[in-house]
Amino acid sequence: MRTPVPDYLAHVLDDCDDHHIGQLADYIPELAQANPNQLALAISTVDGEIYSVGDDEVEFTIQSMSKPFTYAYVLQHLGIETVLNKVGVEPSGEAFNQISLDKENRPKNPMINSGAITTHSLIPTDGSQSSAEILRAFMSELAGRELHFDEQVYASEIKTAYRNLSIGYMLRTVGILETDPVHIVNGYIRQCSIRVTVKDLVRMGSVLANGGVDPKTGKRLLNREVVRQVLSVMMSCGMYDAAGDWLTTVGIPAKSGVAGGILGVLPGQVGIAVFSPKLDEHGNSVRGIDIMERLSRDMGLHLMEAAPSAQTIVQSHYLTGVDDSISVYVLRGVLKFTEAEMLLRILQNEPEGHSKIVIDLSKISLIQDVGKRMFLEGIDRLIDDGHTLLLVDPERRLDHSRTYKDRVLHVFENLDELLEQQH
Ligand code: GLU
Repeated sequence: MRTPVPDYLAHVLDDCDDHHIGQLADYIPELAQANPNQLALAISTVDGEIYSVGDDEVEFTIQSMSKPFTYAYVLQHLGIETVLNKVGVEPSGEAFNQISLDKENRPKNPMINSGAITTHSLIPTDGSQSSAEILRAFMSELAGRELHFDEQVYASEIKTAYRNLSIGYMLRTVGILETDPVHIVNGYIRQCSIRVTVKDLVRMGSVLANGGVDPKTGKRLLNREVVRQVLSVMMSCGMYDAAGDWLTTVGIPAKSGVAGGILGVLPGQVGIAVFSPKLDEHGNSVRGIDIMERLSRDMGLHLMEAAPSAQTIVQSHYLTGVDDSISVYVLRGVLKFTEAEMLLRILQNEPEGHSKIVIDLSKISLIQDVGKRMFLEGIDRLIDDGHTLLLVDPERRLDHSRTYKDRVLHVFENLDELLEQQH
């Protein structure tokens, strides 16, 4: 059998192929030379699989889709508080190149140009490498291959960068930029000229979808809190003045670029990248938006359409042993807050006494931190009630050898063995 996923993606492209409204970005002269018919789509799964169709080998400039990665880089190196002192997180409702600041004289968010120029200025450098080079290396690591600058697009944008330069001077005037604004704006424009394919973008997106760990290498590239901050800002500010529309219709944190790319990242699920150069009046790819809307609908990806938690965390419960003195709970699924609460509510019915309670965690696929904390707390309380607790946890998902009250956890490899030993 061949998985139908690529066929489905090809079908989505076919369906939208003859849609020709929109304009090429022409304020960067080189972008006006793009082939308007190009169309590509890729998705990455959270375990690093990549599917792509259409012009998936075509490189184009990352443009504003670099902004979330620059933001991630400075958050990772300087911490969230330091960065917040310079750039806010409020949607601006304005065009991407608006010359504006919030009440505290900060750019409103890192996804508009003023905020992105500021985050670029924050990249720590010892002078041996330019900030744009540092970012190129960082994005290459995320993409899993060496990325390059597009010298032509860079040179072309530099020649006409009056608006970004005025943003730079304005930021320097209010002290948000602390060094030469021309140099910083140059670096920012260079960052925007990094060439990517949709496959690169989704590979980069898979690291964000996977909470900061590269699913291909297992290496942690970004802290969890950094990823959460970046995706939140993409959700509220990623699509410029169309953010509200995007949130309601597509509901996937995303960032677009004026070369015609859109990168969407659904935490814990997928990265999606589309490329089609013609833009709408907000600067977002017309066919890109169509495709993202379609995928969100077909694949049930809207963030607000979260799948309900498992209806039951306890797969089975039975009594065994002499006088039914052993109470066995076999759990299955994912142990997050909702399931942990459900489990503790069920365990609450265990009568106080000296019975043994066996909890089999071997069919649990994931224990979130909160699930772990609640579980360990529950165990202490059951022991307080006089119970003996025996656990089956062959993969050591609990990752603790003692409870919070410093009681040793009795952990077994296998339920049958455990029960045999008790008879
Ligand atoms: N380099 C472009 C600019 O700063 C990026 C804009 C965009 O992609 O939205 O104007």
